[in-house]
Amino acid sequence: MSETSAGGDRPPVTVIGLGSMGSALAGAFLAAGHPVTVWNRTPEKAGALVERGAVRAATVAGAVAASPLVVVCVLDYAAVHRLLGPVGGSLAGRTVVNLTNGTPRQARETAALVTGHGAEYLDGGIMAVPPLIGTPHALVLYSGSPGAFEEHRRTLRVLGTAEHLGADPGLAPLHDLALLTGMYGMFAGVLHATALVRSAGVGARDLAPMLASWLKTMVDAELPRLAERVDSGVYGGDVGSPLAMQAAAFDNFLRAGEEQGVRPDLIVPLKALMDRRVADGHGDEDLAGIVELLTARPARPAGRHAS
Ligand code: NDP
Repeated sequence: MSETSAGGDRPPVTVIGLGSMGSALAGAFLAAGHPVTVWNRTPEKAGALVERGAVRAATVAGAVAASPLVVVCVLDYAAVHRLLGPVGGSLAGRTVVNLTNGTPRQARETAALVTGHGAEYLDGGIMAVPPLIGTPHALVLYSGSPGAFEEHRRTLRVLGTAEHLGADPGLAPLHDLALLTGMYGMFAGVLHATALVRSAGVGARDLAPMLASWLKTMVDAELPRLAERVDSGVYGGDVGSPLAMQAAAFDNFLRAGEEQGVRPDLIVPLKALMDRRVADGHGDEDLAGIVELLTARPARPAGRHAS
């Protein structure tokens, strides 16, 4: 049964790429009443969406021609270029929203390709898994043409919460990768912690509630303070947990791992940076100062919240 009759005023959307994520995106547009045209390298994957009212385009060019808004969500940017490169001529006047995961440089290069053909470009980072698409819990970060974002904001909000980060197309992937890096860093600690208790026969399920509560407390209490210190560059003064103390305690994490037969691979790099910072004379300062070892301080902090 077609779902596209639900909202007659909804503009048409094309979705290129029908993997797990692209299918969820197309499904959300259909559910919101948009006429949806789809294309996928393996055409059979369009079947369920076509049953729900989507139109399957025979070619990428046909898919691009079908809608003013063209959403692309494939495996990587190499695939994006392989698909859009040959159909450049048909992009003029469209807005391409590329929700494929990639790097800031890849986003800027793709923006140049698309805008060079007379189209508007938005890059995007999806901070959600497919089942969350179409709910406010899906955060989608956008960057690139502010005008195109304004023009298509209502449509893009169908996918979830939509946040535009700025005109530089690289900003969405930059933030996407930053958020994911934070998540993986957290899970690296969670995996080590789980291995540590498992070595003593304690179940991961027994640790999980205690660990979750501890992590939430630390994130809420420490993240704003860490951000303040990094942006101000002031790492000393009123430091409750000086780095030298933390580095000494960290030795116990490594020693306990050795005693319990737990590999230290996930936590050794942080210890090395702590030791270096202490050796450089910053032992009485905050952990946040480690960021100085990772990247040079910009002349002026960039970002939306910098004045
Ligand atoms: P899938 O592996 O499920 O699907 C990959 C899609 O890319 C398919 O449509 C596939 O086509 C297409 N594709 C791959 N290579 C090519 C190519 N050379 N030419 C044409 N099409 C190609 O991945 P997802 O849908 O899960 O992910 C898509 C993007 O979304 C990725 O960049 C991913 O990082 C991002 N993302 C995914 C999330 C998730 O939880 N799934 C979360 C956030 C972002 P075919 O069907 O023919 O193989």
